[in-house]
Amino acid sequence: MDKLEQANETLKNKRETLKKLEPKKISQNTTLPNLVPTWPCIANCGEQVRAEGHLCPHCLAAKVKADRDAETRKKRAVTIVPKRFHDARIEHLDLNLIEAFNGLPDDIGLYLFGEPGRGKTYATAAIAYSFIMAGRSVVRIRYKTLCRLLRCTFQRNSKLTEEDVFKQYLLPDKLFIEDVGTAVKGVEKEESNFSRETFFELLDERLEWCRATFITTNKSLPDLATTFDERIASRVMQACVQIKLEGRDRRIKE
Ligand SMILES: [Zn+2]
Repeated sequence: MDKLEQANETLKNKRETLKKLEPKKISQNTTLPNLVPTWPCIANCGEQVRAEGHLCPHCLAAKVKADRDAETRKKRAVTIVPKRFHDARIEHLDLNLIEAFNGLPDDIGLYLFGEPGRGKTYATAAIAYSFIMAGRSVVRIRYKTLCRLLRCTFQRNSKLTEEDVFKQYLLPDKLFIEDVGTAVKGVEKEESNFSRETFFELLDERLEWCRATFITTNKSLPDLATTFDERIASRVMQACVQIKLEGRDRRIKE
């Protein structure tokens, strides 16, 4: 090894030693302690926010969406619940009705019966409102109107088929059929065949699809079995919890 080679070797060794002594660079990922004060998001989601009493961006976006949905649902409720009953709410109902409503399985409805004026329409308005606000699809129809709409489809110039009309009452999550039973006691002994078949088919199909049906009527279940028939009374028993509405006549002003 000549002198030049030796000198080169020494220089190389020195460089190696120096390299090892170089300070390590601070990693880009090292987090510095956060000196800006933060507060918890008021929705208690676990996020921190830069100002006290605020929502984090995620919770704020969720709130804006929920408010918008509630507004849309309120607008929808106004078109479904009759104007006279726009203020009807579950918490204003009789306690037994509130309890029955709270305990209802999703696919079971109520059979509300009682003399006229006992608050059947008020009760269904309040129940329908709460379902609409929960985002469920709700349809209300008077039984007489339903039969008339179906009969209209039999006319030669009808644009809708019976099936088109029927579907509108088969598909919603919650169907309210009001004032079931058009036959008047002592005048007509029983419902027409058409009325009987319509009611049975609707109840039966909705039961199969596990969709709840709510019924109001002035007939008790045995009365219904007489004016309609036993099959229908038995379907109602499967589909609904029965509640008799009693108490004062709400139409009489005190
Ligand atoms: Zn949050």
